[in-house]
This record gives sequence, structure tokens and C-alpha cells, in this order.
Amino acid sequence: MTVPTSTNNLTAATTPGLRKDDLLVIAGAGGFIGGSLVRYFSEQGFMRLRAIDKKPLPLWYQRLPGVESLCLDLSEKENAVRAVEGAAEVYNLAADMGGMGFIERYRIECLRSVLINTHLVEAAFHAGAQRYFFASSACVYNTNLQQVADLRPLHEEDAYPAMAERGYGWEKLISEMFCQEYFTERGLKTSIARFHNIYGAHGTWFGGREKAPAAICRKVIEAKDSSSLSIDIWGDGTQTRSFTYIDDCTYGIDLITHCESLTATPINLGSSEMVSINELVSIIEEIGGVKLKRTYDLGAPRGVVGRNSDNTFIQSVLGWQPTTSLRDGLRLTYAWIEQQYYDRKAGRQVVREHFGSDYS
Ligand code: NAD
Repeated sequence: MTVPTSTNNLTAATTPGLRKDDLLVIAGAGGFIGGSLVRYFSEQGFMRLRAIDKKPLPLWYQRLPGVESLCLDLSEKENAVRAVEGAAEVYNLAADMGGMGFIERYRIECLRSVLINTHLVEAAFHAGAQRYFFASSACVYNTNLQQVADLRPLHEEDAYPAMAERGYGWEKLISEMFCQEYFTERGLKTSIARFHNIYGAHGTWFGGREKAPAAICRKVIEAKDSSSLSIDIWGDGTQTRSFTYIDDCTYGIDLITHCESLTATPINLGSSEMVSINELVSIIEEIGGVKLKRTYDLGAPRGVVGRNSDNTFIQSVLGWQPTTSLRDGLRLTYAWIEQQYYDRKAGRQVVREHFGSDYS
């Protein structure tokens, strides 16, 4: 899908001093957003891309010809140093993460991702990189502000006083601070985007790490296929969120990274179209052409009660914000997961998912 672009902003392709044959390094490239970012920069005409992930190469969601693809564990210092050799720009999309089921259960794994950013930003500084991007999350926001379903949208100041999501959110907050201090003390231009629930094709859709949009698409497809015509929903379905389509995310990363006035300044990158989980299910049922009997698992992980992105800041700085409607984005996501589901059922090769922190 082509997302509407904004004309006044710099991107990697138009930033003075950055050439199409400069090296861009993308960490976490075997995953959903990192893989999509490699594709995005390749489509922008960048010729030297280095993609890195700790997953073995056959498990990556996307691999492009001509891209240097390396399997490295970036929580090890020497691998981080190797990863950024000669880099003009470094994008850190690597983290041990998943949906609520994962981040509530595996807080230590989430916290240990601090090692990745700590080594990578230090290595990027010593390698003389011009820019460094860090993928943060709406999970940094003070959880006390998110106890009602019809909450006011969260703006950037709401991270402090800090009471982030345990584990995952605190790791993001401290890594944000590293990025800010590397600019303040050492002059490395860092960028920080707080993602709000990114979804789309080429992401996790089964195995335990998948997030709500992919999980619900899969459950609807399974229910249709098995004729059970029922769906279980985590929580009571009234919890609210906004969901951001992947093409808005990759374009937003590019704009944020190349905007001088956003250097070392955390900013929301998310849709402001808030829906309840019940509404999300209804949209996906409609796409699947089915109506299912709903059961609610009140003991399942459900996260904060409500969360939405306040886009005043991004709109004022960039004159842009994510625009893809949830319905349009879900239609594309559903079609991709449906294809994956039937390929998997037929025994055709699909990317296997691993649950837990060890890919070996
Ligand atoms: P993902 O799980 O699909 O991708 C992350 C990748 O990082 C995985 O492929 C994983 O193997 C890799 N990785 C983990 N530990 C590593 C290590 N030690 N060395 C090298 N690679 C390692 O997740 P994603 O959805 O693509 O998320 C990308 C980034 O965006 C993450 O930092 C995540 O926390 C952040 N984020 C994502 C969302 C979302 O909705 N998807 C929301 C907020 C923030």
C-alpha cells in the first residue's frame, strides 16, 4: 500500500550528505518491522543495506537479494561492533518481545534487551555513524494514566513521572535515556519513536508472540476453517487501543530519523484511531465474512485498560501522522495471514515461530 507522503520533510533519500551507496544497518531485520524497513530502504534505492538478527537466516520473515544479511546476537558487545562497521546510519529494531502474553510472562527477557541497545549505540558512536534510531514503545507511558477505556490520548510528556509497563516498558525508557545522553554528551544524532501497536503482513501470527490484530485474524480464520464458529477473547473485550499499519511505521521512522528538530526527542508514532478489542474483532469478522460466538477469558493477560496516541506533536513538527485506516490495513493483513495459514496447513514452508528466548 502506498501511504500519503509529506512534501516538506527530509527523508533518507533527500537528506544532504547521505548517499544512496552509504551503508545503512538495520538490527532486528529478521523480525516484522526490521524486515519491512530493509525492504522500504531498498525500494528507496539504497544499495548498501546490512540486515542483522539473532534468528537463523531461514527463519527471517523477509530476505532481499543484494542485502548483506548476518545472523548475530547483538546483546554481545563484539557482535554489535561488527554489526555497525562502516555504517552511516544505524536502526535498532532488535528486541526480545511479543504481544501481552509474552511481555507479561517474560519480563527478564524483555529487560535483557537493554544489552542490545547499550552495545549498539556505543558501537555506533565509535564507528562514527551519522544517525542512530531506536524503536521505543507506548509501553513507556505511565500505567496509572491508562486505567480507563476512554482515556485521553497519551502525549509525549506522559512518560514522566515514570511508572512504565513492568519489564518491557522500563527497558524502553532506560534505552531512550541512553539515546538522549549520547546526543547530549557525545553529539551522536539519535532518534526515538514510540510505536503504538504496529501490524501488517510479514509479522508474527502464531506461536505465542503475536499481537492482537494478528492473533484475532488467525482465530477468525481457524474458526471458519474448523466450522467451530467461536472465538475466545483475552479480557472482557472493552480494553481499547490504537493500531498502526506497517507502511505508516516505516515511512514515519524515515521522517523522524531525518528531522533535525526531533534529534534525541521521543515522539509518538501511532494511529489515533482508537477501538475496543470487541470492535477490532467485529472488523475482522466482517473481513472474514463470518459472525462468531464470543467467549471471554478474564484470566488472560490484557495489559492496560486503555491506550491511544496523541498526535499533536508529530503533526505539528512533521505535518504528517499515520493515515491508513484500520479497516484497510486489516484487510491486507488478514489476506496475508490467511495465505500463511493454508500454506502451513498444506505443509508448505512458512516461517516457523519460536517461543522463548533461545533460538538455538
Ligand atoms: P519482532 O519480534 O518481529 O522483531 C524483533 C527482532 O529482534 C526478532 O527478529 C528477534 O530475533 C530480534 N532479536 C531479538 N534479540 C536479538 C539479539 N540479541 N540480537 C539480534 N537480534 C535480536 O518485533 P517487531 O514487532 O518487529 O518489533 C521491532 C521493534 O519495535 C522492537 O524493538 C519492539 O520492541 C518495538 N516495538 C514494536 C511494536 C509492535 O507493535 N510490533 C510496538 C512497540 C515497539
